[in-house]
Amino acid sequence: MHNNFTIYNSLTRRKELFEPLRPPFAGLYVCGPTVYSNAHLGHARPAITFDVLYRYLLHLGYKVRYVRNITDVGHLENDSDEGEDKILKAARAEHLEPMEVVQNYMNTFHRNMDQLNTLKPSIEPRASGHIIEQQEFIRKILKKGYAYESNGSVYFDVKKYSEKYDYGKLSGRVLEELQANTRSLAGQDEKRSPFDFSLWKKATPGHIMKWPSEWSNGFPGWHMECSAMSVKYLGEVFDIHGGGMDLMFPHHECEIAQSTAALGKESVKYWMHNNMITINGQKMARSIGNFITLDQLFSGEHPLLEQPYSPMTIRFFILQAHYRSTVDFSNEALKSAEKGLERLFKGLETLEKTGPSEKSTLDISALEKKCFDAIDDDLNTPVLLSYLFEGVKYINQVNDGKEKLSAADLGSLKKLFKTFVFDILGLKAAPVSVTDEKLTGELMKIIIDLRQDARERKDFATSDKIRNELKEAGIILKDRKDGAEWERG
Ligand code: ZN
Repeated sequence: MHNNFTIYNSLTRRKELFEPLRPPFAGLYVCGPTVYSNAHLGHARPAITFDVLYRYLLHLGYKVRYVRNITDVGHLENDSDEGEDKILKAARAEHLEPMEVVQNYMNTFHRNMDQLNTLKPSIEPRASGHIIEQQEFIRKILKKGYAYESNGSVYFDVKKYSEKYDYGKLSGRVLEELQANTRSLAGQDEKRSPFDFSLWKKATPGHIMKWPSEWSNGFPGWHMECSAMSVKYLGEVFDIHGGGMDLMFPHHECEIAQSTAALGKESVKYWMHNNMITINGQKMARSIGNFITLDQLFSGEHPLLEQPYSPMTIRFFILQAHYRSTVDFSNEALKSAEKGLERLFKGLETLEKTGPSEKSTLDISALEKKCFDAIDDDLNTPVLLSYLFEGVKYINQVNDGKEKLSAADLGSLKKLFKTFVFDILGLKAAPVSVTDEKLTGELMKIIIDLRQDARERKDFATSDKIRNELKEAGIILKDRKDGAEWERG
C-alpha cells in the first residue's frame, strides 16, 4: 500500500505520517451539524475537507469507517451550560415539535451535501438516539471521581482532572486564563468551579427534550455525545477526529477530558481541524446580514450575491485553499473559481479528443508524482490543483502540435485526471454551467418572442421553421394559452 500520507495533528502541532491503529482499517470521526437552521457556508468547508480526506483514505486502500454525528439535543446557546437548547428555541419560534425541526433541517443538510458531491458517512448517529450510551459514559466518569452531582445535574470536575491530566492540551488554554475569562452566570452556584462543564443537565419546567435518569429528568451536555458515540462506533482508541477550528474549545477540549477521565487514556490519535470562512473579510453572522445558506448560494437569491454559484464552483473554490488557511468569500473570488473549474473541464474534453504520437515529449509520471506529493502533504489541495492545471497546459500544447504524447502516456494522463479530479477531489462536470443555463434561458425568451411575432403576423412558415429547427437542436416548444414554454427533449 502506497502510504506517505502525512497529516497535521492539532494535538502535537506537527505533521505526522498517517499510521492507522488497525490497518487496513481506519476510523474517522467528524463533528457534524447541529440541525437548528438551514445548512450554510460554514457547513460546506468541514464537509468538503473531510470528504477529501475520506476519499483519499479510500483511494489509499483503507477500509474506512466514517462516523459523522447529528447534534439534535443538548447544544445550548453560545456553547455554554446555560440558555435554551438551540433546537428547542427554533421549535418554539416555528411552532413545531423539536424532532420536526431536526428532520426538516437534516433533510436540507443531506440534500445540500449531495449537491456538493460529498460521500455519505458510514454511520450518522444522532445524539437523541444515544442517551443510554451517554448516561453510561457519565457513570464511568463519576465512578472514576472526575464528576459530581449537584442539584440534579452532573458536572465535570476540571480542577480534579487537572491534578492528573493536562486540561487545555489541545487548545493551549490554561486554567488561570480560563478562570479570568469566565463570567458569573446563573446556575454556576451549582458548580464547584466556573470552568466545570455539564455532563447532564436537569431540565427546567417547560423543557420538552428530556429523559429520565438517576440524577434527574434531564438531557446530556453537548460534549458528551461525541465522546460516547465515537467510542461506541470506533473503539476506545481510534485514528482521526475532525471538525472546525471553532470546535477546538470548549467542545474538543472537553471531549478529550471526558474520554481520558472515563477510559484512563487519550482516545484520539490524530486531531484535524479545518479553518473558518469569512465573507468579504468579515466573520459570518446573522446579526450583520452576511449569513448565506447553501440554497441561497446555489440560487443566487441573497443581497450579497451577484449571481448563482453551482455546488461544484463552491467545492472547487474551497479546494483552492489549504484546509488550515482561512477562506474569504466574495463574488470576484467565486467568479474566478467558476472560470478555473470551466478551464479544468475544458482541458478534460480536449484530452478525450487528443490523438497519440509515436513518442512522448512530456513526462507524465513526473507529473503524477508531484500530484501525489501534494495530496500526501497534509491534503495540500491548492498545490495539487496547480499541478492538474499543469496537466491542462500539457493537453493544450499537445493539441496545438507543440508537444507529443504516446498512447500509453495519454492513457496515464487520463487515469491521473480520473483519480485526482473525480475520485479524490470529488469534482464532477456539471452538464451545463449555471451561467450557460442563465444565458440559454434569456436566448430562448428572445426566440419564443420572435416566433410569437411571426404567428401574430400569420407568418406560419417562419413560426413552424423556428419550432422544427429547435426540435432538431433538442429543444421542444409547447404552446400554452399564455405563450410558449420550452424544455430539453
Ligand atoms: Zn463533536
